Amino acid sequence: MSLLVDGIGCLVTWEPDSPVRQNAALVIADGRVAWVGASSEAPAADERIDAGGGTVLPGFVDAHTHLVFGGDRAEEFEARLTGRPYTAGGIRTTVAATRATSSAELLARTRRLAVEALRSGTTTLEIKSGYGLAVDQERRCLEVAREITPHCTFLGAHVVPDGISPATYVDEVRGPMLDAVADIATAVDAFCEEGAFDADQCRAVLSAGAARGMRLHIHANQLRPGPGVSVAAELGAASADHCTHLSDTDVTALRDADVVAVLVPAAEFSTRSAYAPARRLLDAGVTVALATDCNPGTSYTTSMPFVIALACREMGLSPLDAVRAATWGGARALRTTDVGHLSVGARGDLVVLDAPSYVHLAYRPGVNLVRAVVREGMVVSGG
Ligand SMILES: [Zn+2]
Repeated sequence: MSLLVDGIGCLVTWEPDSPVRQNAALVIADGRVAWVGASSEAPAADERIDAGGGTVLPGFVDAHTHLVFGGDRAEEFEARLTGRPYTAGGIRTTVAATRATSSAELLARTRRLAVEALRSGTTTLEIKSGYGLAVDQERRCLEVAREITPHCTFLGAHVVPDGISPATYVDEVRGPMLDAVADIATAVDAFCEEGAFDADQCRAVLSAGAARGMRLHIHANQLRPGPGVSVAAELGAASADHCTHLSDTDVTALRDADVVAVLVPAAEFSTRSAYAPARRLLDAGVTVALATDCNPGTSYTTSMPFVIALACREMGLSPLDAVRAATWGGARALRTTDVGHLSVGARGDLVVLDAPSYVHLAYRPGVNLVRAVVREGMVVSGG
């Protein structure tokens, strides 16, 4: 089974020699990119999509989501917008709602969000647990995630649940809870923040994951300066996520330890917080990824085009930087090499835009420009 996409006005592949091509075509055979070249020289294939002069990008790689949860927090969001005080502990609200939701309903809800993400061009999705916070509940959330994606991250260290001391809870997370999810989760994450977990607690949880061969991520330096980024560098984490409040030492540490900075501007948009210093990170040579951080409390969006528009408008990224961070950068954060680009041999995951260039993702915010989404050579949305 092969698919030809021709009539491409602007093709982004991230091939080192020609990352962006004009008047191009591409063939996917048996799920992989088999040929890239000029539209006029394209070979025949079983199926064909005429891009009609539009843009083709690698499918978006969303490397940071919390898609498995019950309930929502629209009331908390409204209260925040209207300046009324709202009670803290929002994560605990979602924990209670998640525990009260059946596994079948959790799966149906997560699937709806994953389809929503796919329709806006996301072909690779990471999903974290973190709204169960007990051995059986965290396992259940990861079983749901595993139905949707192979990129499942254990976030038992999200907050300390009620009724247990932090020290006892950390021991539970790094012991029995990690044991219970080790056959599903490929990565482990921890929320390093005042009110969540301190550096030593994060180190304990992440090292236990590393000892089981899991990839490491950390929610770091989100609300204030803190030790999260240095813990990430010290432990060789794949990514440090949020990275809003960084010292020069933090920036250097990210670069030198090859830790990807996963930036989530939709969370900052939604909470009216300061944006992460994306331009400073890129200029320093840090690999930057963009992700949605989709969650019911602080960033209830699955749209990578929206995240790209925000990164350009609010973080000083060029449209090309932002598209690269949303594709190649995300793949680097997940330490995968066959997605996030469209070189020969890459997975045949792509997005066809009804727009003459990738610039329109930022130039036309809020407009759905995604005409078709292809995963492993099959049209999975639009067409
Ligand atoms: Zn998060």
